[in-house]
Amino acid sequence: MKVVLATHNEHKVAEFQQIVAATRPDLEVVGYDGPEPVEDGVTFAENALIKARAAALHTGLAALADDSGICVDVLGGAPGVFSAYWAGHKKDAAANLELLLDQLHDVADPHRTAHFTSTIALVTPEGAEHVVVGNWPGRLATEASGGGGFGYDPIFIPDGQPEGAERTVGEFTGGEKQSQSHRARAFAELVPLLAAL
Ligand code: IMP
Repeated sequence: MKVVLATHNEHKVAEFQQIVAATRPDLEVVGYDGPEPVEDGVTFAENALIKARAAALHTGLAALADDSGICVDVLGGAPGVFSAYWAGHKKDAAANLELLLDQLHDVADPHRTAHFTSTIALVTPEGAEHVVVGNWPGRLATEASGGGGFGYDPIFIPDGQPEGAERTVGEFTGGEKQSQSHRARAFAELVPLLAAL
């Protein structure tokens, strides 16, 4: 079966392809190079649906789109849907991360809890729509470390690591990230829906 992945973010495409290869090798995921719709939704689900609908319409294939971000508890869930633009509309990942660290400068470790979240929309050319969500809980480091992944990975420490040996996602291997990330968790929810197509 062939699905189109409605994203122009090369990091997300690569991560999806690794997740799919590990869990649904029969699924052929093709990239999307059609027009990018304006993401003017104010929730992850709205934005994921906007992207998936546009790709399904343009390609005539079932389309998947991820809308994702980081939600910091002490900031009331921000940056949230504004994660990509937190330091301005230039989509500067390094500036976004620096601003977030600066805002949390005086916040002590127990209060630095956060989660990555991924909402994936699946839209078929016939117009059926499904939305699934995956969350990855953790907390924010006080400085960036590791050069892996993208976005906020160098400052996010996922829960469930051995005490004294905790790492940021920036220090994870791609395989480690793709086996437990918010995107992988959302995709796991999607597998039965894809099987039913
Ligand atoms: P979107 O492409 O509009 O969904 O924006 C997602 C933004 O959330 C990205 O630009 C990153 O800032 C952040 N983000 C989402 N997923 C991840 C991840 O896996 N690692 C690090 N940052 C992420």
